[in-house]
Amino acid sequence: MILPGATLGVVGGGQLGRMFAIAAQRMGYRVAVLDPDPDSPAGRLAEFHLEADYADRQALDELARLCAAVTVEFENVPAESLERLARTRPVRPGAAAVAIAQDRIREKRFLAECGLTGVPFSVVRDRSELAVALARLGGSAVLKRARLGYDGKGQVRVRSFAEALAAFEGFGGEPCVLEKLCALQTEISVVLARGADGATVVYPAIENRHRRGILDTSLIPARAPRAVTRAAVDATVRIAGALDYVGVLAVEFFVSNGRLLVNEIAPRPHNSGHVTLDACVSSQFEQQVRALCGLPLGDPALLCPAVMTNLLGDLWALGAPRWEAILREPRAKLHLYGKRAARPGRKMGHFTCLGDTRDEASARAVKVWRILVRKAKAPRRSRPVQHAAARG
Ligand code: ADP
Ligand code: MG
Repeated sequence: MILPGATLGVVGGGQLGRMFAIAAQRMGYRVAVLDPDPDSPAGRLAEFHLEADYADRQALDELARLCAAVTVEFENVPAESLERLARTRPVRPGAAAVAIAQDRIREKRFLAECGLTGVPFSVVRDRSELAVALARLGGSAVLKRARLGYDGKGQVRVRSFAEALAAFEGFGGEPCVLEKLCALQTEISVVLARGADGATVVYPAIENRHRRGILDTSLIPARAPRAVTRAAVDATVRIAGALDYVGVLAVEFFVSNGRLLVNEIAPRPHNSGHVTLDACVSSQFEQQVRALCGLPLGDPALLCPAVMTNLLGDLWALGAPRWEAILREPRAKLHLYGKRAARPGRKMGHFTCLGDTRDEASARAVKVWRILVRKAKAPRRSRPVQHAAARG
């Protein structure tokens, strides 16, 4: 066991790294962050900030020297960097699991090997494979880069070969997958933590709404039928076992025509799991610390239903948001990540509304949101978007 007082490393200094650092520091650990951005959200509050590229060997060796163990904040860390760190320090999750999650082609093959059903897809490496794939999937499809996509970036919806080819060329001809565009009833995610001894704790399934490919709101517990959420939990546990996973793992699912389809895996805490910070006994970030340090895992039990709403940079378009809307609501919690520039689509923070029931938490989130986005002098054209829970 790595006990409080030790220094823990995290590769990546965004909001996920920051929330990991806060959980670790609260428990008495020190934190070292590797992130090239001098102003990174996690780097700013960690005891050590190595401002270097994720592939910088000297910085990686320094991180290993400083830390008792290392984790990752996001899956696009070069697997070779994790292998280098793993020569001298425990790295959780391991490079092999991260390498699968960072390549959609490997990820989909792995999920199929686990016996799980996903969205129908084809691998596209060149123009002729693209033509065959589009003909096979027919109608509407989504072209996704195999690597480096996130928050809906690196994917384009296409309806014709011309559109598909333009998208493929726009991705520089890099390997892609073409997926069938599914009519989604709902999306759910399952977050779990698994220790080195195989002990596993699972949070209740979370229901997610996206806007333009970016997570918008998350509701815990999900409203999907019990058989569906049970199947999603079982699938996530199976995936973690097959990866011999240590750490926090999230799996995204689609529900389409009543069927559960596995979408993708995240070898780290997940945006939808931010709801666990306020709604559960132990948050996903506390579990990340516990799994990394070989401590017993915390209780994932739900304290009450909750809705998390992401705060994207778009919200700043009309000036600083009215934080009083959240701060005046006793059952709402504000989380801001300390990012200075509010760009459209950038995740700046989130707020969570608690309730005795899901409906109550949703109604509270809608109410807070309406006040948050209401502007005394808002021009007519910039009518604020509706909160997902108000969209029905
Ligand atoms: P990212 O890595 O950006 O999260 P995803 O594959 O999860 O990539 O896609 C982001 C979102 O886009 C999904 O959560 C879903 O709302 C929508 N989406 C992606 N693929 C499909 C699809 N094949 N059919 C319908 N919606 C999709
Ligand atoms: Mg996703």
